[in-house]
Amino acid sequence: MASPVIQAEGVRKTYCQGTPHAVEVLRGVDLHVDRGEFVAIVGQSGSGKSTLLNLLGALDTPTTGTISLAGRELTGLNSRELARLRNQSIGFIFQFHHLLEELTCLENVLVPLMIAHGRPRPAQIDHATALLDRVGLTSQLQKSPSQLSGGQQQRCSIVRALVHSPQLILADEPTGNLDSRSGADVFALMREMNTELGVAFVMITHDDRLAQAADRLCRMEDGILTEKERTL
Ligand code: ADP
Ligand code: MG
Repeated sequence: MASPVIQAEGVRKTYCQGTPHAVEVLRGVDLHVDRGEFVAIVGQSGSGKSTLLNLLGALDTPTTGTISLAGRELTGLNSRELARLRNQSIGFIFQFHHLLEELTCLENVLVPLMIAHGRPRPAQIDHATALLDRVGLTSQLQKSPSQLSGGQQQRCSIVRALVHSPQLILADEPTGNLDSRSGADVFALMREMNTELGVAFVMITHDDRLAQAADRLCRMEDGILTEKERTL
């Protein structure tokens, strides 16, 4: 059987280890996500959700435990390999879009390609343009982020996350800054990309309705992750 896209085993994270302020934020988390799966994580603020997502995305390292991406353990990789992995195998979407204001919508989407390969080739520009078209941004390609609505900005950051055809997208409250209608639209778009392109998603959300529409639903409680029955 193919290895899971991402697998965390016995992951613990302690901040300020060895000091009187040490706090164990993750207390033994196991999670595996298969190819093409859409997993939602809910839980109270401060329960450790973002900490886990940062570890899954190789933005930070666990205190103990292992994380493997497509069967490759992250702890064995050097910083250059990790940077490459973050750039090409994982896409990130955050609550605040982090688009660069001095670049156009199209240029923002090209940034990950430029980091990896330098000046983008025409075929890559065509690919980025086609993706932006898929999410309804054809008429916005040359606009700067501040000229877009919140929902459009988030669509642009979804395309930026997808541009390298990653195996996994990590989304930390991607609809948290949007009104419920744009939030639902952005979620529907992520779900569409998930089924059409087969990219796996791990999404943190406070919106119970969106969480219920995922393939699997997990709850983080004080650094412990448990699977929840869906009620819908
Ligand atoms: P959530 O995303 O569920 O709201 P976080 O993972 O952001 O929770 O934070 C969990 C806990 O870890 C919080 O108590 C937070 O204050 C603490 N924390 C997060 N990052 C750090 C850090 N860099 N140093 C110390 N404590 C941190
Ligand atoms: Mg958070």
